[in-house]
Amino acid sequence: MTFHDETPGEVLFDPDGLTAAQRAGRACVVCGKRWPAPPVRVGRIPGGEAVYACADDAPAVEQAARPVTRSAAT
Ligand SMILES: [Zn+2]
Repeated sequence: MTFHDETPGEVLFDPDGLTAAQRAGRACVVCGKRWPAPPVRVGRIPGGEAVYACADDAPAVEQAARPVTRSAAT
């Protein structure tokens, strides 16, 4: 599967694992909390809808999503 409109670095979430509210960007993709509305865009689902995480969970999503490209050589 290829997503030609993929924004570099943006995480694609599997919509099957998300609730309707999460897919619509109205609930945190991690904890599902709807209020306050999750403020941090952490990625999107294939097809375009942005998904959000609350401030507490956003760093964890970004860390988990980012491939570890740490180089030992310096
Ligand atoms: Zn959360």
